[in-house]
Amino acid sequence: MSVHKEAYQKIKAIVDATNVSLVAVSKTKPNKDIQELYDLGHRVFGENYVQELVDKEVALPKDIHWHFIGHLQSNKVKYIAPFVQLIHGVDGEKLLQEINKQALKNHRIISCLLQVHIASEETKFGFDAVSLLELIDSGRLSNYPNVVVKGLMGMASFTEDQTILKKEFDGLATTFAQVKTKLNNVHFDTLSMGMSGDYELAIKEGSTMVRIGSLLFGARNLVL
Ligand SMILES: *Cc1c(COP(=O)(O)O)cnc(C)c1O
Repeated sequence: MSVHKEAYQKIKAIVDATNVSLVAVSKTKPNKDIQELYDLGHRVFGENYVQELVDKEVALPKDIHWHFIGHLQSNKVKYIAPFVQLIHGVDGEKLLQEINKQALKNHRIISCLLQVHIASEETKFGFDAVSLLELIDSGRLSNYPNVVVKGLMGMASFTEDQTILKKEFDGLATTFAQVKTKLNNVHFDTLSMGMSGDYELAIKEGSTMVRIGSLLFGARNLVL
């Protein structure tokens, strides 16, 4: 497999025109594919599995910005804390606490996005909007000085139904605006939503960061 260059140029043109950032999702893909996109000038890559991310970070150029976009277990935060640039899927306070602890150990401030559950499916992780707003209102984020909450992340339902997708993205954009008003913090500026199948719709609904894998690298093997 290799990188789909035309797809990259097309996506790049769209995200640049709309001021959206592009995370190239390289999970399960070999280092040479990442290097190929890197050689085209791309620097931001997203990975879902801790061990795979750690191995790639060692092997690939040091100026890559690595985002962790998968479900992160608290006991694995320590492996990525030295270098990770953004953790997208923070779905509970226990995890926030652990990220804060590991950031402190590494003398870092780690940027995070809080994951909001927007899909109708049971399997997707995240805060529901009510408990998220409760967390923000409580002021408890200030207990985690080595974490900076840069925004929200969500995954829409696995469907091609545009009405459902639009409703889910729209709901997340509303929650994002509410939290932004409450926090009144310039750092809170990132809304990570949209993947290969729905990124154009996500951008229309207010996304500022899309996470795209298969359009760039081809379909993944189902088993890692
Ligand atoms: C795999 C993955 C993506 C990329 O999905 P594609 O449909 O291949 O673009 C985006 N976000 C998350 C959280 C993922 O796990």
